[in-house]
Amino acid sequence: FLQECARRISDCLRVSDTVARLGGDEFVVLLERLSSNISEATAQAKALGEKVLAAFAEPCRLAEHEHYTTASIGVALFDESSDNVNTLLKEADMAMYQAKAAGRNAIRIFDPGMQAVVSARSALEADLRLALQENEFELFYQPQVNQHGEVIGAEALLRWQHPLRGMVAPLEFIPVAEDTGLIVPIGGWTLKAACKQLAAWAAKRETAHLSLSVNVSAKQFRHSSFVGHLLDVLEAAGIAPGRLELELTESVLIDDMEMTIAKMTQLKQRGIRFSLDDFGTGYSSLYYLKGLPLDQLKIDQSFVRDIMNDQNDATIVKTIIALGGSLGLDVIAEGVETAAQRDFLMQHGCRLFQGFFFGRPVPLDAFPY
Ligand code: C2E
Ligand code: MG
Ligand code: MG
Repeated sequence: FLQECARRISDCLRVSDTVARLGGDEFVVLLERLSSNISEATAQAKALGEKVLAAFAEPCRLAEHEHYTTASIGVALFDESSDNVNTLLKEADMAMYQAKAAGRNAIRIFDPGMQAVVSARSALEADLRLALQENEFELFYQPQVNQHGEVIGAEALLRWQHPLRGMVAPLEFIPVAEDTGLIVPIGGWTLKAACKQLAAWAAKRETAHLSLSVNVSAKQFRHSSFVGHLLDVLEAAGIAPGRLELELTESVLIDDMEMTIAKMTQLKQRGIRFSLDDFGTGYSSLYYLKGLPLDQLKIDQSFVRDIMNDQNDATIVKTIIALGGSLGLDVIAEGVETAAQRDFLMQHGCRLFQGFFFGRPVPLDAFPY
């Protein structure tokens, strides 16, 4: 297969160009004698890149099978003044990762902005490695309420108090934590902190009824020790698992649905509940909905936001509520910001709510219990 790829790339080149395989499935093409005008040279490199992408569009026949593949191409320009090969390759590499991030089968040209993004990210990564031992994480709690407006529980939302940058939002650091694998220890910390809080609530009459939802990343859930670790945490905290709810997103279902179901079933037997977060934004296949041991669907806030002025969003929300009803699942709406949204949801059969209208995520001491 690699030989076939090499052949296809070579076929796109002139005799004066060079192609090499540096390792794995990475090839380097060196184009010489391009225009001395940067934008012309860029256009020439891009045209060649497009030729290569097109060459990969044809399936590759190996033995009896047809293989489909795509290329991701990063371009870095150089001239006589560039004397550092490593820098050049690094820049091409960064551009290639941008092409991959753009959904593959794409070309990206290196620009210094990419360097800035990569540097900021590696700084974040380095800090994130220290965050656990420096005890910089904290859970915020956002109330979840029923149709009478009574608080029935909370969602635990992770916050990172960075020593210099202040509060870093989870949308910024969770993806980094996932890429680096740090999500496993960080997620472990979150579960432990959440269970400790549940134990504290369970010990008091006024709070014993509260449940707590915890977000679990796909990567964390897939980790081989996830179930064992969680059961240990539950036991150490000494809580009834029925008050713990795990929020999974549809991304957990992409890779290995059977494994997902097996793990969920194992945890569910212990009484842990499952909610499907951001429902409607992913694959939303009815097939898996039937197969998963879920307790709850969580309507994504992007639908709730425009419920009052976008007919399509209103229809989607009504459909999700009906779907949950017929599958015997609870339905909770997130991102409820106004009374009008709540009323609309209630009118269509939604009984559980979360959003700024009822309360923002707050530190424990500001939580209404
Ligand atoms: P999510 O689980 O869908 O959480 C809901 C997000 O919506 C939270 O943002 C919350 O602050 C925000 N939100 C709640 N009500 C409203 C509202 O009425 N209007 C608007 N505009 N926003 C509202 P946050 O806390 O920034 O969290 C973002 C995402 O980060 C979460 O989305 C979740 O995917 C992830 N996340 C948070 N904590 C954890 C964690 O402990 N582990 C993992 N793996 N992911 C987490
Ligand atoms: Mg959530
Ligand atoms: Mg959500």
